[in-house]
Amino acid sequence: MAHLFPDLLNLYGDGGNVRVLAQRLRWRGVPVEVRRVNHGESIDLAGVDLVFLGGGPDREQRLASSELMRMRDELRAYVEDGGVLLAICGGYQILGREWLLGDEVVEGLGIVDITTERAAGGSADRLIDNIVLRSPLATLPVVGYENHAGRTRLGTGVEAFGSVASTMGCGNNEADKADGVRYKNLVGTYLHGPLLAKNPEVADHLLARALERSAARSGIAAPALAPLDDSVETGANEALCKRFGA
Ligand code: GLN
Repeated sequence: MAHLFPDLLNLYGDGGNVRVLAQRLRWRGVPVEVRRVNHGESIDLAGVDLVFLGGGPDREQRLASSELMRMRDELRAYVEDGGVLLAICGGYQILGREWLLGDEVVEGLGIVDITTERAAGGSADRLIDNIVLRSPLATLPVVGYENHAGRTRLGTGVEAFGSVASTMGCGNNEADKADGVRYKNLVGTYLHGPLLAKNPEVADHLLARALERSAARSGIAAPALAPLDDSVETGANEALCKRFGA
């Protein structure tokens, strides 16, 4: 598993998602290695089956984006080959065609057909709220928190991560009632929280895809993910949905 630029992209505990993924494997006796790739470092994705990118303030997002641009071809090939990638907020925006640094439009990686535009009211006009989604990746509603200035629009060949199911929260933009993106085994979302601590079904979906790919490479069957006791998370999910009007 590769955690890309944790020193730059780690808002609202986004790095906790990596700890959740690793711990859910350890609880099941599945060995896992987490490589933290800091600013200025590089990684060969050949032996990687899960990549994580968090969110960051504009300046850090720009620094991370320059590093990621150098990895662009390798990252694109990884995603096209079915590599699992989870990106939150700033990391999610960078995957698209272009995104915003204040009022400046910055070229993105172009790995998925999404575009992040400026808000009508400028970069101080942020979408900040709790939010609940319905996603095909989970049977329970997906709960989280969003805080972003960019408004993201999906292009062709991609699906949303989920539809907005709460009275609060916007997701990608004010109009679409949807959040995030899904393309092959790539998931991008505005949900901080951290997402996977609150939504273990999403964590297990990503882990299952990563284990399948890793096993296929070695020509063996993927280990089944034994069920874990998620009753605390399930109880919290119910309480949060009620509070957020979902
Ligand atoms: N800087 C980006 C925005 O505000 C992303 C912020 C974040 O990752 N929370 O749109």
